[in-house]
Amino acid sequence: MLNNNFVKYRDLLTISDYDKETNKEKFILIPLEDEYVFGNYKKGMDMLEHGKQIPVRKSVYNKLIKVSQKLKIINKSYKILVVYGFREIKKQEMYFNDILKNIKNEFKDEIDLYEYIHEKIAVPSVAGHPTGGAVDVAIYNDVSKSILDFGTEILDYTSNKCYYKTENISEDAIKNRELLRKLMLEEGFAPYDGEWWHFSYGDKEWAFYYNKDKALYNQIQEYKYLDF
Ligand SMILES: [Zn+2]
Repeated sequence: MLNNNFVKYRDLLTISDYDKETNKEKFILIPLEDEYVFGNYKKGMDMLEHGKQIPVRKSVYNKLIKVSQKLKIINKSYKILVVYGFREIKKQEMYFNDILKNIKNEFKDEIDLYEYIHEKIAVPSVAGHPTGGAVDVAIYNDVSKSILDFGTEILDYTSNKCYYKTENISEDAIKNRELLRKLMLEEGFAPYDGEWWHFSYGDKEWAFYYNKDKALYNQIQEYKYLDF
């Protein structure tokens, strides 16, 4: 099984605290157009009622700019595209509860139940996107006006090809995934093996990956509480 090594809900439960100071860090809106880092929520994705622009923590944005600067050394047409960032925790809870209500009677143990759902949608108490530290990104070519070949469309969960390590994708797609991951890790992001496009800084997944005893950011309840 390819998915045996993904971070588990049980793993993330070991990170029970966050840093109260770093959690005060402000948010910033990803520009819709920019030379280095750009993007917006796609039609049909949530959060659009607050506008198309994606909020992330300021440090996350600064790190993405550094990734993009390194990309431009490799190819000056390359830049970072962001298609997802902050998500309200109440939305995470809504998605989670939708699955929970249909299957909760099939499990005796609550942690087993949450673990099962976590593979589909992160358990809200450990989810990365509501912290503003998680992003879904790809490399974009500004001359051909297209995303590089990553083997699947970004946010396409319809097959195992969304896993970082997978079968039946091209050599180019493998190389592009490796390049994106290498540069993101160099800037301190943690990867998620279940989705080639998902990276995070400062959330519980990041803390677990880097063996920290606490996260840098906690989840934010609603959009209106974001500090710009
Ligand atoms: Zn994500």
